[in-house]
Amino acid sequence: MQSASFSPTIEYARELDSRDDLARFREEFYLHPHTIYLDGNSLGLLSRRAERALLNALDDWKLLGIDGWTQGNHPWFTLAEKLGKWSAPLVGALPDEVIVSGSTTTNLHQLVATFYQPVGKRTKILADELNFPSDIYALQSQLRLHGFDPEEHLVRVKSRDGRFLEEEDIIAAMTDEIALIVLPTVLYRSGQLLDIERLTKEAHARGILIGFDGCHSVGAIPHRFDEWDVDFAYWCNYKYLNSGPGGVGSLYVNRKHFGTLPGLAGWFGSRKDKQFDMEHVFTPAETAGAYQIGTPHILSMAPLLGSLEMFAEAGMENIRSKSLQITQYLMDLVDHELAGMGFTIGNLRENNRRGGHVSLEHTEAARICKALKENGVVPDFRAPNVIRLAPIALYNSYSEVWNAVQILKTIMVEKKYEQYENKRGVVA
Ligand SMILES: *Cc1c(COP(=O)(O)O)cnc(C)c1O
Repeated sequence: MQSASFSPTIEYARELDSRDDLARFREEFYLHPHTIYLDGNSLGLLSRRAERALLNALDDWKLLGIDGWTQGNHPWFTLAEKLGKWSAPLVGALPDEVIVSGSTTTNLHQLVATFYQPVGKRTKILADELNFPSDIYALQSQLRLHGFDPEEHLVRVKSRDGRFLEEEDIIAAMTDEIALIVLPTVLYRSGQLLDIERLTKEAHARGILIGFDGCHSVGAIPHRFDEWDVDFAYWCNYKYLNSGPGGVGSLYVNRKHFGTLPGLAGWFGSRKDKQFDMEHVFTPAETAGAYQIGTPHILSMAPLLGSLEMFAEAGMENIRSKSLQITQYLMDLVDHELAGMGFTIGNLRENNRRGGHVSLEHTEAARICKALKENGVVPDFRAPNVIRLAPIALYNSYSEVWNAVQILKTIMVEKKYEQYENKRGVVA
């Protein structure tokens, strides 16, 4: 549904910008000249604060050497815990339920190694056929480690249309053979936001543990993991949280599971006061910190210090509110300006069922993306036919969205995309 006051003019875009309470954050980012960056859901841009935090970490190394572990403004020995505490409000968790550690994929391995405990006929893992490949590979390999055939033991809920999942279908698949459920909060291609609370309730009613991949929601959407009683979650910090390429990921473990022995143990999972006793008996931390493995990647975590500060100042509710408004505006423009050009909006329109990006489908998507990039708009392409556009609350403006749609319109009208091959690049 179009927003009531929508107008396709640049003046309207400027008016929205002038009323944007988050506009002041834009100048804190390194924006690229003559470029409209709409790919912050794949790799968020660098902010001055994230840069400063990284440079400070380098200074600590330069000036303190080994003492950086215990001295400086952000001692490295407790940096993962500190960043976990700072991240907790973004997901509705207690400070000790989040730890910044590993990557999305390694955290999934850790959580499945910990919480997938097949017994009797409950041996299967429930996932979905639209999930990101890395998550699926991790689940398949975890099943193999238990001696199970992933073909049989990984149940993937089918999508009725190749875009979305029906909560009804997921719930129907929660049989007494399922030991564990792993689902995305927001689907990476269509941007569908699942009903996390409802799915968690239904899983628990059947005695099944459930965890969520928050890569496409954390930093875009508020969460209430504790209130919803989610068992565990994991996400990356380099997308909406702007922590830099390969930035360290995060995991959440509900307090009720503290004390569950990590499936993959390592010395950084130790109780802090015990770690340097160097005993061969592992004493795990009584926090989410227990699920760390080795030495934290300090230089890939440091930017998050600067970035999370901005999220705290901006407020997650305000970020979601602008994100909904700016993506709605983008959809309104697409409906108005690109009608009859072969585009379909491939995300759901309801606010409570969509994430932070707009999923635009077109049969020529791959080469339209190339043309967009050549003409100063950075989207991303997801095979086979999706152009993802993510106007980011902290650094994109309504005028940029207006301009991006005008550029796309020109590309279509003048058939500029025909100069390119309709094939994805190595990194799409
Ligand atoms: C981005 C993303 C990943 C990437 O995982 P890494 O371990 O950071 O490479 C995994 N799963 C989903 C759903 C993602 O969106």
